[in-house]
Amino acid sequence: MASLTTFTDEARIALDTISERAAGLFSPSVRVGVTGLSRAGKTVFISAFVHNLIHGGRLPLFDAQKSGRIARAFLEEQPDDAVPRFQYEDHIAALVNERTWPDSTRAISELRLTIEYESASGWNRLLSSGRLSVDIVDYPGEWLLDLPLLGKSFQEFSQASFEMAELPARYDLSRVWRELARSVDPNADADEMKARSLFESFAAYLKACKLDDRALSTLPPGRFLMPGDLEGSPALTFAPLPGLSRTPRPGSLQAMMERRYEAYKTHVVKPFFREHIARLDRQIVLIDAMQALNAGAGAITDLEHAVTEILGCFRPGRGSLLTGLFARRIDRILVAATKADHLHHESHDRLQAIVRRLTQRAAARANLSGAEVDVLAMAAVRATREGTVKQGRETLPVIIGTPLQGETIGTQTFDGKTETAIFPGDLPAKADLVFEGGTGKFLSDRSDPTIRFVRFRPPKLERTAEGVTLSLPHIRLDRALQFLIGDHLA
Ligand code: GDP
Repeated sequence: MASLTTFTDEARIALDTISERAAGLFSPSVRVGVTGLSRAGKTVFISAFVHNLIHGGRLPLFDAQKSGRIARAFLEEQPDDAVPRFQYEDHIAALVNERTWPDSTRAISELRLTIEYESASGWNRLLSSGRLSVDIVDYPGEWLLDLPLLGKSFQEFSQASFEMAELPARYDLSRVWRELARSVDPNADADEMKARSLFESFAAYLKACKLDDRALSTLPPGRFLMPGDLEGSPALTFAPLPGLSRTPRPGSLQAMMERRYEAYKTHVVKPFFREHIARLDRQIVLIDAMQALNAGAGAITDLEHAVTEILGCFRPGRGSLLTGLFARRIDRILVAATKADHLHHESHDRLQAIVRRLTQRAAARANLSGAEVDVLAMAAVRATREGTVKQGRETLPVIIGTPLQGETIGTQTFDGKTETAIFPGDLPAKADLVFEGGTGKFLSDRSDPTIRFVRFRPPKLERTAEGVTLSLPHIRLDRALQFLIGDHLA
């Protein structure tokens, strides 16, 4: 296999690392990557993470906060001028003032949070500066899933794309594109309009796979779904072709597509990896397990596939495609299912067991080693409270919240204002049941979904007697903080 890093890549990473390390002597920093497929909950997670630290939220499982060692936490200017800033203030204004969910992640962004603290041990107090900068890097999981392309030629990419498109789950969604692609001659003269229509048709198929009721995992190229600032650029205007020849004729459609595919790898995928992913110390991967559970059997398998691919990107082991591109080693990875506030707390551990099972299988398959991996079921922002409702002689556990306008259960449509108690249903005690090859029964009957899932508005924040607004409520966010940065504040 050809080496994917050139000498200049490695030299550049080494130089960057040396200067970052030197700066780190004066002000230690830790870079935390936050990723997940679109709508997994990245924006909400980062907003809640920062808000709870700045406002001294209730974080009993986060040692430094619990033991009162954090003097203050505040936002500082980020070190990377070329990366957009995570729009924290706008997102918090939406969540807290308007009780609406903030705009989701569309591209990479970054935020620096600095924490002033006192070490727990006298020895550490002598050695440490008592300051830690946490650089939070938010980026679409779709972009990460492009990394395997670095090891694929245009022919291999084309072949793999057709194979996936012909699988039963995608067959109908990909038909229009497949028919169009098979109608063109790759050896014909290159034609911009033809290239564009092929690209548009292929991108439309990839987008259709992501719709709620399908919830199929993402296929590359990731920028076809999340273009960021590259919308409409030639490096993005290509598509797989059938019936390729080994050496395309110069000036042909195949030659043009192949050149653009290579440009996408060189100018989009590789720099993104080198400049952002290769510098991370810690990583959290958010997954929307609730949506997958709701979408039925198959979607869970698909999610597991996506997590395998994502974890594979963090594997700098020997023989990996990406060896040499890594400047640092990501030493901790947290796979977290967000939105646990849609379930009663009795099911939280069950959700976590499902995530554990899924992650273990994915980590084994991705051959991940060297990093500590943990899992969590959490809600970065808790939009519901718990209660009980009496039904005949039974007392049922319910969750209470304000469903978003337009959400429905059965024949009832919600207005976005009324608080409602919902019996969400239970997850099975045995995690195996939700996986294909388990009995599968849990997920197969969609006419009577076992869990009921509606989207809620963000919660109304409580105020103290003095009128101070309390920080955003959450479920187990403190455990995520402890795993991601706790040891740096020890
Ligand atoms: P992103 O695309 O990964 O940035 O996803 P967002 O953070 O924008 O989250 C997508 C949607 O998921 C939000 O608009 C909310 O509706 C929902 N969501 C995310 N996190 C939570 C959470 O902790 N609790 C609840 N109830 N909903 C959440």
